[in-house]
Amino acid sequence: MTSPLTLHPDRLFSAEPAQRDIARRLYAQVKDLPIVSPHGHTDPEWFALNEPFPDPAQLLIVPDHYVFRMLYSQGVPLEKLGIPTVDASPVETDGRKIWRLFAENYQLFRGTPSRMWLDWVFAEVFGLDVLLNADTADHYYDVMAEKLSTDSFRPRALFEQFNIEIIATTEGALDPLTHHQTITEDDWDGRVVTTYRPDTVIDPEHEDFTKSLAAFGELTGEDVMSWEGYLNAHRQRRQYFKEKGGATATDHGHRTARTANLSEADKRALFARVVSGDLEADDADLFRGQMLTEMARMSLEDGLVMQIHPGVHRNHNLPLFDKFGRDKGADIPAPSEYVEALSPLLEAVGNEPDLNIILFTLDEDVYSRELAPLAGHYPALKLGPPWWFHDSPEGMRRFRERTTETAGFYNTAGFNDDTRAFLSIPARHDVARRMDCVFLAQLVAEHRLPEDEAHEVAHDLAYRLAKEAYKFS
Ligand SMILES: [Zn+2]
Repeated sequence: MTSPLTLHPDRLFSAEPAQRDIARRLYAQVKDLPIVSPHGHTDPEWFALNEPFPDPAQLLIVPDHYVFRMLYSQGVPLEKLGIPTVDASPVETDGRKIWRLFAENYQLFRGTPSRMWLDWVFAEVFGLDVLLNADTADHYYDVMAEKLSTDSFRPRALFEQFNIEIIATTEGALDPLTHHQTITEDDWDGRVVTTYRPDTVIDPEHEDFTKSLAAFGELTGEDVMSWEGYLNAHRQRRQYFKEKGGATATDHGHRTARTANLSEADKRALFARVVSGDLEADDADLFRGQMLTEMARMSLEDGLVMQIHPGVHRNHNLPLFDKFGRDKGADIPAPSEYVEALSPLLEAVGNEPDLNIILFTLDEDVYSRELAPLAGHYPALKLGPPWWFHDSPEGMRRFRERTTETAGFYNTAGFNDDTRAFLSIPARHDVARRMDCVFLAQLVAEHRLPEDEAHEVAHDLAYRLAKEAYKFS
């Protein structure tokens, strides 16, 4: 059975005609703006080597935990979807078989943002005009595999076709940034910058902490077993990320937003316990918290923007973690508290107008109670866009409804796609642009904001705020 695949031009707009008309006018002004993607997880190797992407399953399913977690929740084993195992025990490698299994289950994505993003990729990138289902699975696979083998589907060509002005990737503190250097040295104008993500050398509970700390010392030549040496190693790597990878930001994925601002003596004593492995119950969390404050102080020195992504219970499904490792769709949001947690950090650096600390949350309860009031006061704070589970039309609506009254638009940081799924990046930005136009259209229709001002805000939200918040020149 085949049904047409169409993307309605008014999708996501209000069904109320007056608001819809305003949203259409606002959207027309922003839909073709270049994409600024200041936080995400695309692989710099794609843009450095510019080799063709692999088959459709390896491109769209295997790396995308949004996709395979939904299938897994309905009883589809990850092995059958080609997800690699930790012990290299065999999994499905036939792309067509993986694709068919996905297509047979495509109805599971009805009403989800994944469905919107994927349909956009199928229609706009691959030119497909029938809906995906079990009957059209092979047609899809053939069309996509054929196109992926052509030059116009190589990473750099798609980057240009998507009108990406700049994209940030995320690399660990030990990364040599070889691919970023290749991109800079090559005769190609695409801007791909890195982001300093030092979690493995900051989190004493990370499974790679001890090993990473040793490598951190070797790489920098610093004595990372001493507090000064350890901090200097961070300073050195931050500088390296700026110089070799064009980094303008750091990123910190902690279990909580806790920060600390201990005395010099207490910091040293805590660090000594951390490196000796002789931790007291609260030490790991306290150390992560102290390091957020240290990172913020370094940001004052070197100008890097700081992103804090707390509130995820990583690897919730331990048997699955043992078999497949991290980032397999088993990270679950946990309640997060920011007011008390950020107080030590804000006492140290919150009044610095040149410092940009961008906060994210997976706990929507804190938008109006905590985050908007904090960002609506402290010069150093900005609110990141709805993140991860809330990167959806509903999540975006809730974010604007709950934060604008207190933080306004200008304490927010534009949109992040935060994705590994390169082909879906334009679709994700398009959803954000549409939803901001929907929100603004309501303000205009209710005579709370003149339409000419709404046009200016729509442009700022789609483009300017992200560039400013992340200090892209
Ligand atoms: Zn991210």
